[in-house]
Formats: sequence, structure tokens, C-alpha cells
Amino acid sequence: MSNDESPNTLFIDGTWQPAGAGGVREIRSPADGTLVTTVSEGDRNDTERAIHAARRTFDDGTWANTSAWDRGDLLLRVSDILVRDQAEFARAESGDTGKRLVESEQDMADIAACFRYFGKLAGINGGDVVDTGSPDSFSRVRYEPVGVCGMITPWNFPLLQVAWKVAPAIAAGDTFVLKPSELTPSTAILLMRALDEAGLPAGVGNLVLGSGPETGALLAEHRDIDLISFTGGLHTGRSIAASAAATVKKVALELGGKNPNVVFADADFDTAVDYALMAVFLHSGQVCSAGARLVVQDDIHDEFVDELVRRTEKIRIGGPYDEDAETGPLISAAHLEKVSAHVAKAVEEGAVLRTGGRRPEGERYANGHYYLPTVLDEVAQGSYAVTEESFGPVLTVERFTDEDDAVRIANDTHYGLAGAVFSSDVSKAQRVAHRLRHGTVWINDFHPYLPQAEWGGYKQSGIGRELGRAGLGEYQEAKHIHQNLRPQPPRWFDGR
Ligand code: NDP
Repeated sequence: MSNDESPNTLFIDGTWQPAGAGGVREIRSPADGTLVTTVSEGDRNDTERAIHAARRTFDDGTWANTSAWDRGDLLLRVSDILVRDQAEFARAESGDTGKRLVESEQDMADIAACFRYFGKLAGINGGDVVDTGSPDSFSRVRYEPVGVCGMITPWNFPLLQVAWKVAPAIAAGDTFVLKPSELTPSTAILLMRALDEAGLPAGVGNLVLGSGPETGALLAEHRDIDLISFTGGLHTGRSIAASAAATVKKVALELGGKNPNVVFADADFDTAVDYALMAVFLHSGQVCSAGARLVVQDDIHDEFVDELVRRTEKIRIGGPYDEDAETGPLISAAHLEKVSAHVAKAVEEGAVLRTGGRRPEGERYANGHYYLPTVLDEVAQGSYAVTEESFGPVLTVERFTDEDDAVRIANDTHYGLAGAVFSSDVSKAQRVAHRLRHGTVWINDFHPYLPQAEWGGYKQSGIGRELGRAGLGEYQEAKHIHQNLRPQPPRWFDGR
């Protein structure tokens, strides 16, 4: 396809446009390799134009000075459109990711809720008055937009990750340039159409598709971007933070985790096994908060792992529209290769492969990037298998003796995104939850998230927090305004 015939999938300054020199990309289903769609990608020039549009629109001041209530209403209209068109969005998401359609449909409910939440939050807190302790002065903190946001999002929950950035940015009065993963652009395109329909002014939201090292990297280094918000891998996150340092821009990073799922012997056995499976194998483990490390008490280790392996071998794998399937393929051939290599290295190091560790057999899997749910037992603390993310359907098992031991092992990671504690002793579970150095801790549960509660990582899992009240905070500046109510010459220097 020549660039003249390329689809209009770049959205810059309120206009849909074809590819510049970036060319076109075919998006193929990870489930069977069939062609899903064709999109235009931007190059550095397109990205420059998008940044310029966002900068000019922000500096003009009209958008930033709209009423926060109006921006909130716009987000509520977007939420309504997402509900109205959820079937189209879910199908597009499953097409790009290979994710089961039912999961994409569930994601749509979370995405619409995210826009609704930030729509309602937008106008709530315009600022705070600060007590100066003096009748002769007046101080207040005013929340203002950060400016132009660069947003780089990954492929595992493509639209949800976009929603977590776009909704608070609009609520705060920022403008933005969004670059979704090159593997999963379809729902970002649909979202930009929804924003347009809901009345987002031209130049406020801009979409540039393209490769990370070109388009994404330019957002991170560009002097006209005030905040770079990134969700993805640790190594990419480090390079983005380093580029951002050159212009001292604000940085928000969510970089995944190696999340411990701590199971005490007094936990309800069936519940804990069931959650342990869901925690790690949901969406084939391609979840930043996946419970990829089972940390189980010695007393029940054998029985627990036997049952877990028995259940793992029953998991049904298939494509997005296969009603029988419980989980789907990995995102790409490259990622399949990475997960396979991860397991091979773990086994080489001494992990005991209890099940999985290979691709499933059969014609129906031949053209997809499938990998069997895998359990690696007896992994050594601090080993590669438990410190590095596989981001695939791979569970490692570590043992602990008592409460202190559980906390020590669960915290022995350079990540700190999420974790869980299973126990029927509520006091013990709360104690352990307090001591876990992870941004979110679930007790007798796994994976629920609430837009109204903070989401972010300790340690190398990230910088800043998304969602919650603080989620809007990432996209706002808090300006302290102090007024002297009796201005007089200060006479600091007496002039003699
Ligand atoms: P990346 O971190 O490379 O990709 C995430 C996003 O960053 C994509 O939009 C990507 O664009 C973009 N990107 C890539 N390189 C650069 C760059 N140099 N500058 C700016 N943006 C860039 O993730 P991968 O897909 O390579 O996955 C690697 C690992 O990251 C996974 O195995 C997993 O461990 C982790 N990961 C974590 C996620 C999370 O939710 N925290 C989500 C996805 C992955 P493009 O797609 O065009 O390359």
C-alpha cells in the first residue's frame, strides 16, 4: 500500500490523517495470524506536529481555563459513548491482543467506570486554603494543569492503560500526545473518535501511532512535553526516565512487578488455590500485577502445589472467540520467545518444572503465540526465576516457615507493585499487609482494583501513582499562592 492510500489513523490537531514517512503496519491476530486491520504510523515529523499542536493548544490557555465541571461533563459523555459502543471496542481489543472477548468486555466496564470516576472528580477540589497563623496574610494552594503530557502505553490492557492516563489529564485541563503500543492501536483510534464526538476541542488530544524507539522516544526527550507518563517494561522505563532528565520533565512510570501471593496454612484451601490460578494465569500472565510468585507456608506446600498443578493442567487455551477457552495466546512471537527463554533459564538454574514449559500441541495452536500454563517449584530465593518478570503464564513457588519469613521472602524483589495475603487469621493478614513493600496488597483476594484507590509501585515498579485522588495529582501542579494582606517595605536591610 502506498502512503497515499494509507488509512487516516493519526489524529493531529483535530484532523484524521494518513501516514507521513512512517508508513503503514498490518496488525495480525496473536491467536491465528489473520489480518485484523491496517494502520498508518507516524514518523518524527508527525510526532513533532502532534507535540506542536498540543503545546499551542495548551499555551493558548482556553482549554486550561475551561471550567473543571465542563471538562468533567465531557468525560461523562465519553463514558456514555464507551457504554454505547462497547461491543465494537471489545471486538477491536480482542482482535489486536488475542484476548478472550469476554475479558475485553469486562475491561470495557472498567474503562467506562474510569472515565466516569474522573468525570466526577474533575470539579471537586479546586484548591485548599492554608492557615498561615497570621491575620495579615492569606495562603492557598491552587491546582493547575501540568501542561502537555506525552503518554506511552503498552499492549496488555491497551485501552484501560490509555484510559488511566487520558481521563485524569482531561480532568486536569492538560493537553496530550498519545502513543499506544504499535501492536495494539485499534482501541486508541476508537477512543480518539469518541473524544472527538464528545466535543474535545481540536489540539487537546493527539494520537500518533508508531514505534517506541522513534515516536515514543521523541515524546520522552522533547522540550515541549511537560510530563511523560509511561506504562511498560522496566528497561524501557529506565531509558524514558533518563531521556526525560535532560529537560527535567515530570515523569510518571508504571513498570510492572514480580508480585508475591503469600498463602498461609490457615487459609481456606480451595479459595487460595483458585485465586492462585487466577492471579497468575489470567490473560496468560500478561498482567503487571500478576501473582507470578506463590509464597506458600511449608506445612501445606506439597498438598497445595499438587492441587495447583492438577488444576493448571485443566486450563483450556484458545482464541478470543472460542467460548470454551479460559485463557489465550501471548501477544507476539517475540514475547513467546522471551517467555520460553525465561522458563529454560529458570530450569537451568534448578527450578523444578512441574507442568507446562512448552507450547501446546495441535493444529489449532499452530499459527498463534500460545504457551502452556507453567508451574516452577522449588525456586531459589533471589534466583533469576523469582526476580525477573516473565510476563507470561509462569508461576514460581517458594516456601516459608512463619510470618517473618513470609514477609522477608515476599519483599525480596526490586519490584513493588502488588501482592496478596491469604489467611483466615484477619489480624495476621493485616499485619503482613502492612509490612509488604508493595503499592497494592489484597487480602484473600487478587486483582480487584478501584479507580478511587491509588495504583502505583514501590521500588522499581514505578514513579507516581495513577487513579485515586493522587491519580489526578500526577496530571496537576499544586501551586501555593500566599498573599500578604498588609504589604509594607520589608526593611530587611536598613540602608545605613
Ligand atoms: P515496552 O516497555 O518496550 O513497551 C511499552 C510501550 O513503550 C510501547 O508503546 C512501546 O512502543 C514503547 N516503547 C518501546 N521502546 C521505547 C523507547 N525506547 N522509548 C519510548 N517508548 C518506547 O514493552 P515490551 O512490549 O517490549 O515488553 C517488555 C516487557 O515489559 C514485558 O515482557 C513485560 O515484562 C513488561 N511490560 C509491562 C507492562 C506493564 O503493564 N507494566 C506492559 C507491557 C510490558 P512499541 O510497542 O512501538 O515498541
